Amino acid sequence: MHKILLIESAGTERDHIVELLEQEKFELIVAATGETGLELAQQHRPDLILCALDLEPQADQQAGLPILRAMRLHPELTVIPFVLLTHNPDPIHQRQVMAMGADDCLSRPISDSELIAAIATRLSKQAAITERYITVLRNTAEQLNRLANYDSLTDLPNHRLLSQRLSQLIDAQEPVALLSISLDRLRQVNNTLGYPAGDELLRAAARRLKASLPSSITVARLTGNQFAIILVGDLDAQTLMAVADDLMGVLSQSFSLPGQEVFITTSIGIALCPQHSQDLPTLLRQADAALDWAKQQKSNYCQIYRADMPVVSGDQITLETWLRYALERNEFQVFYQPQMTLSSGRIDGAEALIRWNHPTHGDIPPGRFIPLTEETGLIVPIGEWVLRMACRQAQSWNLAGLAPFQVSVNLSSVQFNHPRLSQSIAAILAETGIDPSTLELELTETALMQDAETAMQTLQELKQLGVRLALDDFGTGYSSLSYLKHLPIDTLKIDHCFVQGCATDQQNQVILQSVIALAHRLDLSVVAEGIETEADLDFLQRQGCDVGQGHLIGLPSDAESLRSQLQSRYPTPFSCAISPTQSIITP
Ligand code: C2E
Ligand code: MG
Ligand code: MG
Repeated sequence: MHKILLIESAGTERDHIVELLEQEKFELIVAATGETGLELAQQHRPDLILCALDLEPQADQQAGLPILRAMRLHPELTVIPFVLLTHNPDPIHQRQVMAMGADDCLSRPISDSELIAAIATRLSKQAAITERYITVLRNTAEQLNRLANYDSLTDLPNHRLLSQRLSQLIDAQEPVALLSISLDRLRQVNNTLGYPAGDELLRAAARRLKASLPSSITVARLTGNQFAIILVGDLDAQTLMAVADDLMGVLSQSFSLPGQEVFITTSIGIALCPQHSQDLPTLLRQADAALDWAKQQKSNYCQIYRADMPVVSGDQITLETWLRYALERNEFQVFYQPQMTLSSGRIDGAEALIRWNHPTHGDIPPGRFIPLTEETGLIVPIGEWVLRMACRQAQSWNLAGLAPFQVSVNLSSVQFNHPRLSQSIAAILAETGIDPSTLELELTETALMQDAETAMQTLQELKQLGVRLALDDFGTGYSSLSYLKHLPIDTLKIDHCFVQGCATDQQNQVILQSVIALAHRLDLSVVAEGIETEADLDFLQRQGCDVGQGHLIGLPSDAESLRSQLQSRYPTPFSCAISPTQSIITP
């Protein structure tokens, strides 16, 4: 029932309107003065106001106008249709009243049907306006909800909605598996093909993930390259691994991006509720810890959380604060992983790899903190420290030992693009007295792609210092082989993803054969990283690969244990007396 406020002095005209409107089943509120009218309007919020222009007792001919003005200035009453009843039939007068904000102006005498029709028109217009208003509000609310709960790039639920759904499940005591998934090569795609290509990759990956799972399963995008999936139910490890394998399989198919077809690898970490935790933030961190672990293993690897995995606080700021002190508190150490000359079976070099032992959180893997040191610029002093330690170590080995021994040191792209790079390396060379040709710097394609011209200049400056240059993780950067011949580099390090299992993987065999052949034609030495089995080593030896590195040959270890490990196992510059044939690996 519509509510009408009638503002009119007592009298026969008012009585008649009251009777008429009550007959028409309107709910009626009556006020005799403007002041009461305003009060009642605020109190009852009527659907329409009928107001006489001349009101008793002042007998003011225009008393309705101040009420109209007051209504129009009021933030909420202004939307209520206002119909003025006047005795003045002059159309100019009527137009003036309308211009002041009245929705209609009826001049007396007014027939019943005229009054009812005017009211009906106003009410139906008002209903249309309200409906439109509600639609706009509803759309806006929906948009706000999407912005707050969904990722705008992929349209998947975001961290907030994922957390909400997870906590509902945890509260309902449902068993849950949280899968944290990372696309390992997004950064390379962004750097080499540009951000639009990276965005397209993310969208396509999101579509594939969603399409490969029943629609009831939540697939969310957490951050840059990280997705998450909630599986509800009591699932055993075998089932979870099978699901993870399927997801990795789906994402390992090629992606057609503008200008290039690319392949990516995926890492997955899983944490279970209630087995691992019933606390949401802890569960999220455990899934991340398992993911970090998986990333450290090999490409396309899935790991279920174990209690011995370091759960670093989800708060990156904590990690960053720790990092700022780590150098001065001597928490870093340089490990060395042996590199074997495959033709002789001798260990002629080692790669320096940083290790961080946090006093309370134990070992934090480089994959976890190196990206943060790059973001914060801390990689510059930390990288310089690694370089200095490795050069000192190499010099002491060379002084103690007999044959020259080479150390390889990783240079991040941030270091590579730092303006004082060659001065700082020259200073370390001078300070440690190392023969520059026994130092190899490992760069990635990412470092070289950022600004090709400056990169070339830097490479030449480094070459002038007499050091050797290697291209690390070769094959993961999408750059063409043809640009290699323009680079003043000495070594190609083939990424472990092509090496692992190469003895049986025909596709990788073809890649390795052609990369080795091409590298040799360009006078480059080839290092294969990640050799884990005799069969893989054997294949690489037969292909004429120059140098091998991997767990089979030796794990990264501190300088002292490297020395004793080598002395007991392989012919090395430290123990030249042992002939190559005595090596356990050399055929
Ligand atoms: P990278 O330069 O490609 O180093 C090779 C990585 O492969 C090392 O991981 C090494 O421990 C691991 N690895 C060696 N052999 C095997 C094997 O047979 N199987 C498997 N699955 N893995 C093997 P790590 O030490 O965790 O380092 C990871 C990455 O962190 C390095 O990749 C490098 O990019 C970066 N990094 C490490 N130390 C430094 C450093 O001092 N400076 C800079 N800028 N980056 C560093
Ligand atoms: Mg390396
Ligand atoms: Mg590498």
